[in-house]
Amino acid sequence: MLDLAQRMSRAKPSAIMAVANKAKALKAQGKDIISFSIGVPNFLPGPHVYAAVEEALKHDTGQYGSNRGPDALLDAFIKHMEQIGLTGYGRENIVTGDGAKHVLYNLFEALLNEGDTIAFPVPYWTSYVDIAEIVGAEIDLIPALAEQNYKITPQQLEEAMARKPKVFLFNNPSNPTGMVYGPDEVKALADVLVKYPDTWIITDDIYNRMLFDGVEYTNFIMHQPALRDRVIFVDSLSKTYGMPGWRLGFAAAPTAVANAVVTLNSNHITNVSEMVNAAGVAALTGPQDVPEQKCREFESKRDLVMDVLNSIEGVVCPRPQGAFYVFPDISCAFGKTHGPTGQAIANDVDFCNALLESKGVACVPGSAFGAPRSIRISYTCPTPQLQPGMDRIASFFSELS
Ligand code: PMP
Repeated sequence: MLDLAQRMSRAKPSAIMAVANKAKALKAQGKDIISFSIGVPNFLPGPHVYAAVEEALKHDTGQYGSNRGPDALLDAFIKHMEQIGLTGYGRENIVTGDGAKHVLYNLFEALLNEGDTIAFPVPYWTSYVDIAEIVGAEIDLIPALAEQNYKITPQQLEEAMARKPKVFLFNNPSNPTGMVYGPDEVKALADVLVKYPDTWIITDDIYNRMLFDGVEYTNFIMHQPALRDRVIFVDSLSKTYGMPGWRLGFAAAPTAVANAVVTLNSNHITNVSEMVNAAGVAALTGPQDVPEQKCREFESKRDLVMDVLNSIEGVVCPRPQGAFYVFPDISCAFGKTHGPTGQAIANDVDFCNALLESKGVACVPGSAFGAPRSIRISYTCPTPQLQPGMDRIASFFSELS
């Protein structure tokens, strides 16, 4: 039997996809399933995006595109960044990829030698660990528990930075918690980061336009401009514009880093599809009414979800201010049994299995995000499913003994 490369023993398929697939299979069997599992925004971009693709098709040149991305798209992204307060970037700082996941993969490849350390808070987005393991990096997790609103403190960051990671990775707003670090909190962390010049900083801020309660997005470099030489900002069309399947992501980085990712692109994807690039220009520069309206809808869905969670005794859930996830600590259910069958709930995976089997509600176990006392609820399903789905969760809790 021929061997696969050793790195494949470290590569795992996405845990979130596994839950989503199980829910899909049950649905296909005719079961009444409400899925709170996968993080898809569940809306389509505005008609101008489709019109731009039709136009691009008419002008197809039959050539390969730029490894970095076409100028029109780079300029559109630079403008988009200016609107959220990130100014002073040129085309040489920008690079595109097949979604933020691919951009992050490239960045890990570009910045981390085997054995180098990458530090990031836990709970984390699952792929951070998976990609770090594929590239052979060591992972230093900084715990951000529910009791501390799922946010790391400057003191914790100081301790992690003193261990000299090659990369510090930050995600704001957060998947899976939906928590947002406000300007004061970002500044306090930036004041720590500026003292450690040997660490690259990746800010995966793809939910930067999905903010509630009037909170504004800020990045470390707005508070400590000296960090610009080391901060790499990652963004994507997937969530903001309802375009996850189109696959377009961005990084804004110091020139050497952006160029390294361009080189990686030149050796695998060559370029993001020109049709997708045209869609990206239209999404970024066209009317913003769809993403703005969807953001307000997510805000009121957040309210509904929090109202139900707050009514369940023993569940602890910091109130998110962005993205479209909540991450309740459901560990009060551990050690209990559910319903007439007496199904034992020892941990988050048991909890999610019992919830799916008895109530037809799919959530992702927190262990997928390094936080096994919690579950993730992605609340982007159509509004008519949301209240019943949450009611089923509440009724599940009421049947524990
Ligand atoms: N970062 C975070 C925090 C995410 O939640 C996701 C998608 N779930 C990504 C990156 C990847 O997004 P994309 O679809 O652009 O690859």
